[in-house]
Amino acid sequence: MDFLPYDIVIVGSGIAGLRAAIEASRASNRKLRIAVTTKVQAMRSHSVSAEGGTAAVLYPENGDSVESHVYDTIKGSDFLADQDAVERLCSMMPAEVYQLEHWGMPWSRKEDGTIAQRPFGGYSFPRAVFASDKVGFFEMQTLYDTALKYDNIEFLQEWFVTSLIKDGSRFQGLTAIEMKSGNFYAIKAKAGIIATGGPGRLYSFATYGHSSTADGLAMAYRMGIPLKDMEFVQFHPTGLVPSGILITEGARGDGGVLLNKDGERFMERYAPERKDLAARDVVSRAIMDEINQGRGIKAEGLDHVYIDLRHIGAERIKERLSTVREIAIKFNNIDPVNGLIPVRPVCHYFMGGIDTNIDGGTELPGLWAAGECACVSVNGANRMGANSTAECLVWGKITGLEAAKYSMTRQSAEISKQAVEQEQKRVHDDIFHGKGGEDPYAIKKEMQQIMDEYVCVYRDGEGLSQALKAIRGLKKRAYRHVDDQSSVYNTNLTNVLELDANLEISEAIVAGALARTESRGAHARVDYPKRDDAKWLKHTLAYYSSDGPRLDYSAVVITKHKPVERRY
Ligand SMILES: Cc1cc2nc3c(=O)[nH]c(=O)nc-3n(C[C@H](O)[C@H](O)[C@H](O)COP(=O)(O)OP(=O)(O)OC[C@H]3O[C@@H](n4cnc5c(N)ncnc54)[C@H](O)[C@@H]3O)c2cc1C
Repeated sequence: MDFLPYDIVIVGSGIAGLRAAIEASRASNRKLRIAVTTKVQAMRSHSVSAEGGTAAVLYPENGDSVESHVYDTIKGSDFLADQDAVERLCSMMPAEVYQLEHWGMPWSRKEDGTIAQRPFGGYSFPRAVFASDKVGFFEMQTLYDTALKYDNIEFLQEWFVTSLIKDGSRFQGLTAIEMKSGNFYAIKAKAGIIATGGPGRLYSFATYGHSSTADGLAMAYRMGIPLKDMEFVQFHPTGLVPSGILITEGARGDGGVLLNKDGERFMERYAPERKDLAARDVVSRAIMDEINQGRGIKAEGLDHVYIDLRHIGAERIKERLSTVREIAIKFNNIDPVNGLIPVRPVCHYFMGGIDTNIDGGTELPGLWAAGECACVSVNGANRMGANSTAECLVWGKITGLEAAKYSMTRQSAEISKQAVEQEQKRVHDDIFHGKGGEDPYAIKKEMQQIMDEYVCVYRDGEGLSQALKAIRGLKKRAYRHVDDQSSVYNTNLTNVLELDANLEISEAIVAGALARTESRGAHARVDYPKRDDAKWLKHTLAYYSSDGPRLDYSAVVITKHKPVERRY
């Protein structure tokens, strides 16, 4: 086995991982040796699929303000976000937009040539900067091109990280499989940053690609680092039926409206002021209410409503919503210029993640987390659209800088050989050559069905108890079965490793959801329909134990804004 030495190792090459790599390189004057490991090709990281926008205050002279971005985010979070972190996000974002612009980002423009912004749900000002409806693709291209200019950043593409290694008191590195050879490596590093994105494929009806799994979350969790607020899962109001592909909120930002089976613009009843552009949790619940009360359109288990873009006009749809149009035509044979698109709420984002402090630092010295896998927390119980790419940029930068400062004051990296060998044994003996007759893909399907059914827009105690029991049952069944015994690009092996992580994290989500006996943001309990600040204005912390998650709680940071009832 080879031991590769680096100063900083980053797991993940999405927006957060790339932004972190660039900042760490800049902060060290290109001196630190930085590895970016990624289980797919860097440009296939899930961030490329972000569509609608990135939130930032650009035009205070026209009435917008950082304070307003802060308040919209805190209100959107149903007052669970840490307010000091939100203030940091919103005040750092304008500079990030211009930084990307200087690196070559082709932001869409207004007629006078300045950067354009579009309305997004829950915001009191059009605040989403965008590049047509391909914002993630262009941000990734800009960051990847920039990272390639730094010769101290090395990309280990199609390397599957299996575990993090520590020596008791600090981070030491990680273990990974190089997919093209099947070789097992240890990477030793003074500092690490986890940027592994959201575990979207815990659900089958999801906007995520199939590589969005819980690996990074599980690595941190198993190492004893708590996961925060995992019960808060965002269901985006407009997933295309039946595929689940996202119809971006930019479509409603640019004028699209939701209609029920009677052609009624029903959001006027649920959110009289913001209507179709209320916060996502509010719109998703409204759609489910329409469907549950018989005003949806029947479609074999995926009953839905419509989004209507026809009045926007062909020219504007082709210019600003070209991806939405292409998706609707290719997948449903519907041209939104003259047809209605069938949509329903779809798993889209995880507000929870690896517990970090305001600098993205975890409990383990030398280890940071950034992007969707982290919970700093700016999203609380419900994320505002366009704030995730923003969070990836801001905490990518912060964690890159912090990890660089830390590494520059440390001697060379060491790694425990014994811990590495133990992990190699787990992967090679217990999993690759593991015994058991169960088909891991069937187990995965069962897990997704459980999550789709019981841990969705609406939940209740009975369903969550059933889900917890069922997930625990799946964990016990012998799923460690790898049919494919070849070493080259063995995705069967990595799929089993992903399943292992997914089951662990599903359990943490369900346990947190069952314990939280209130409704807040995206966590809507039919049996506890009210928000309960007296009991539940606190973050959930899930700690790993072999008997399942141990739950604890921590205080929410409130600086200026006392919780009030949310109205849109
Ligand atoms: C369809 C869609 C549209 C969206 N649109 C928007 C939008 O318009 N605006 C907005 O703000 N947000 C949007 N979001 C959310 C946002 O895109 C994501 O939250 C964000 O891009 C996540 O970026 P990330 O850097 O945290 O992780 P990702 O981009 O998901 O990258 C994760 C990385 O981790 C790596 N990785 C994972 N596990 C391993 C492992 N075991 N070993 C090695 N590498 C590993 C992967 O290879 C990948 O490089 C959207 C999300 C979806 C699903």
